[in-house]
Amino acid sequence: MPIHPHSDDEGEALDLQNTRVQKRARCSGHDDNEGLGESSSNEQSSQSQMDFWFHDGDIVLAIERMLVRVHKRVLSRSHVWDDMLEIPQPSYIETYDGLPLVKLYGDTANDWLSLLRWLYNDRQFYTSPSASHFPTLSGALRLSTKYDFPALRTWCITRLLTLWPPLSLVPSLSSTPPLPHALAITLARQTDVPEILPAAFYSLATLKWRNAADGGNAHEVLSPGDLRRVILGREALQELIDEFRSTLDDSPSTLAASDPHYTCKTVLERRWRKAFKDGIGSSNGNGVCVLRTLQEMMIENLEEACDGHLRWHRELARERMEKVVDAVPRMFML
Ligand SMILES: [Zn+2]
Repeated sequence: MPIHPHSDDEGEALDLQNTRVQKRARCSGHDDNEGLGESSSNEQSSQSQMDFWFHDGDIVLAIERMLVRVHKRVLSRSHVWDDMLEIPQPSYIETYDGLPLVKLYGDTANDWLSLLRWLYNDRQFYTSPSASHFPTLSGALRLSTKYDFPALRTWCITRLLTLWPPLSLVPSLSSTPPLPHALAITLARQTDVPEILPAAFYSLATLKWRNAADGGNAHEVLSPGDLRRVILGREALQELIDEFRSTLDDSPSTLAASDPHYTCKTVLERRWRKAFKDGIGSSNGNGVCVLRTLQEMMIENLEEACDGHLRWHRELARERMEKVVDAVPRMFML
């Protein structure tokens, strides 16, 4: 939920800095904050904003209830800010402690804290584990896109691609902790990063939703169109899995029991049926069950199968994995 700067029921016990923010924001009287509200934490903001109150700063930014005093030269690394700061100022501008005050409606304090951490110490930002946490990463991506900080945007996209990689790499991902796939889809739409969509849609669709918080609230996060994509994609994946389970070319059931390959082919048939018997959605809540299962089958040993049939089995798993990877964008209409 967006935090309204002028709300009266908060802030009385906050520190001097925050009291100033509230006083200032009351004067402005705006209430059209359009922040995304995602992971907004006022307490965290009020503590961390002190890190960005520089005594030699020459501009004050107001974002939600947060005030920071920073340097124009630092903001000017962005063409957008450079252009804004170049524009001749009108004779009357709002000030704070004698400095120009810029109110940034529509941004969130937490997003700005991510950006400011990067602006003032990018090396430390890149190596900090917290920078790769989704709320920080998504905030940095939103603002680096909005204000055109290409280096930060590129870094954020690279990090996101380690979490939602090309589909052929999805099985190698660890499934813990669960990732916020629905938020990632929304972020990708907002910031034009379609590269992560196949992995995010696939992962969300293959979750067992009743076991996963992310699946459980996806309907609140996704647009109606994207929610429809999840449902259609899930149905299409289920159909493909049903096909994997039910059809093996050269099925052993056509062989006589006396055939020397009867046993090994029966083993393979049983393996395929068992692998996908639960259908889509894995009981342990990870979102990579189909591709992960196929990848396991590509390298597994089945002792009862002859070498020829084992090779055939692994090759079939590879073909079917490629088929899934190829089909996902179409299934989800991406
Ligand atoms: Zn055989």
